[in-house]
Amino acid sequence: MSQKPRQKYSYPSVTTKVLLYFLISITLLLAVVWIFQVMLLNVFYRNTKMDEMEQLTEVIEQSLHISEDELDTMVYQYAAEHAVCIRVFRVEPDNRAVEIANADVSEGCYLHHINGETLTSLYNKSVAAGGHYTTVIPISGGKIEISDSNGPHVPEHNDKVLAKRTSMVRVDVCREGDVPYVIMLNCELTPLSAMVATLKMQFWWIAASFILLTVLMAVVFARSIVSPILRMNQSAKQLAGGNYDVSFEGEGYRETRELADTLNYAAKELSKNDRLQKELIANISHDLRTPLTMIKGYGEVMRDIPGENTPENMQTIIDETERLSELVSALLDISRLQADAGEPVRESFDLSAMLENTVARYAKLRACDGYVVRFEFDRPQVYVHADKTMMLQVLYNLINNGINYAGEDKTVIVKQTCTGDKVRVAVIDHGVGIAPDQIPLIWDRYYKVDRVHKRAVVGTGLGLSIVKTVLERHAAQYGVESTEGEGSTFWFEIPIEKE
Ligand code: ADP
Repeated sequence: MSQKPRQKYSYPSVTTKVLLYFLISITLLLAVVWIFQVMLLNVFYRNTKMDEMEQLTEVIEQSLHISEDELDTMVYQYAAEHAVCIRVFRVEPDNRAVEIANADVSEGCYLHHINGETLTSLYNKSVAAGGHYTTVIPISGGKIEISDSNGPHVPEHNDKVLAKRTSMVRVDVCREGDVPYVIMLNCELTPLSAMVATLKMQFWWIAASFILLTVLMAVVFARSIVSPILRMNQSAKQLAGGNYDVSFEGEGYRETRELADTLNYAAKELSKNDRLQKELIANISHDLRTPLTMIKGYGEVMRDIPGENTPENMQTIIDETERLSELVSALLDISRLQADAGEPVRESFDLSAMLENTVARYAKLRACDGYVVRFEFDRPQVYVHADKTMMLQVLYNLINNGINYAGEDKTVIVKQTCTGDKVRVAVIDHGVGIAPDQIPLIWDRYYKVDRVHKRAVVGTGLGLSIVKTVLERHAAQYGVESTEGEGSTFWFEIPIEKE
C-alpha cells in the first residue's frame, strides 16, 4: 500500500473564506446605507421638497379660474397641509401685481418678509428662466424688510427668527386665458445636520453589531459545512488504508449527502474490485498451475522412462501449452479492452458465414469429447457492420462457456434469428444454468460462480467480461436467460447492415 499523502495546503479554510465573503457583503451593504442615508440625505430631502412644490404649483395653476375668495381658501388649506407659504398675484395690464391669494403659515417666511423690489426681481428671474424659477436662500441673521399694505417695517426679533435657516423659493409665471399670474411658494428646509449626526451615530452602532453578528454567523455556518466534510475526510483516509467497510455520512446538506453517497458507492466498488482481483489471482494461478504441472509431468516421464516418448504424450504437452497460451491471450484481450485501445474497427461482413465457420471449428470436439455445437439459422447471409475480430471473441467465449457448462446432452446451439432490422445471435446450452441472484454478477470481471468447476475448454473468469465490454463498445443489446438445471441462453443483438 502506498504511503498516504500528507500535505499542508496553502488554500484558505472554508471558515476564512465564508467569513471573508460575509464581511465583504456586509461592508458593501453598510456602504450603500451610508451613501444613501447619510451622504445623500440632503439631496433626497431637497428633491422631495422640490417635487412637492411642483405639484402644489400645478394644482394652483389649474385652479386659477375659480373666484378669488375660493382660491384664497384653497391656497390656505394647501399651505397649512404642506407647511408651505404661498402668494398668488395677478399681473394687471399696467404691469401692477395684485395679490389674489395669500397663505403665511410659517413664522418668519422669506416670501412674506421681502419687499416689492425683491419680489419683482424674483418675478423677473422666473420670466427670464422661461416661467419657472427655484432658488434656495440661506438666511443667517439677515434682516428682511416686510412690505405690505401698512408700509415697510422690520419685524421684531427678526434676527432671532430668521437666524441660520434655509428657504426654498419657487416662482412660476403662468397664464389663465390672456391674464398672466405669478405663483410664489416658499418652504423651510429643515436643517438636517442634527439628524445626520444621529444617523451617523446609529450607523456606527448598527455597523459594529452587524459585523459582530456576521463573524458569529460565518463561524457557525462554516463549521456546519465543514464538519461533515472533515468526517468524510477521516473516512476517506480509512478507505485509502484499505478499510472498505468504512461508511461516509454527509448529513446536513444535499451536496454533502450526494458526495457521501458517491463515496459509499466508490468504497463498495473498490471493495468488490479488490475481492475480484484477489479471486482472479487465485483462479489464474490455479488455471496456470494445472497445465504447467501436466507439461512438467509429461516432460519428465518422457525424459526418464524409455518408450514413453509417444506422440500421444507429446500431444498432451502441445494441448496444455495451447491452454496456457489461450489463457494468456484472454488476459491480454481484457487488458487491451480495458486500456481503451480496443475501439472497434468496423467492417462489413457476413455474420451468418462467420457463425457457420466458427461452429465448424468445434467439430473436432465432437470426435474427442462427444460435444456437439450446432448452428441454426433463418437466413444464409446477414451482413453487419462491426469489428470482426471482436465479434469472434464474443462468439468463442459464449460457445466455450456453453461447452464448459453444457448438460448431459453435451450440445450447444448457436441460433441466428433476424427480427426487423436486427440480427439476434443466441448461444444455447442445456446445462447447469445460473441462479437468478448470480445472473447480474457473472458479467463482472474475474467472477466465477463455482470455483472448482471442471472445465472442458479453457476458462479464465474473464470471458463474459470481454463479451460485455465488446458488446457495449458496439452499443449492442445483450443478456442471458437461464433456469437452474435446465440451461442458459446467452444472446446479443446487432443491427443488420442495409444494402
Ligand atoms: P469462466 O467461464 O472462465 O469462469 P466467464 O466470465 O466466461 O468465466 O463466466 C463467468 C461465470 O458465469 C462462470 O464462472 C459461470 O459461473 C457463469 N457462466 C457463464 N456461462 C455459463 C453457462 N453457459 N452456463 C452456466 N453458467 C455460466
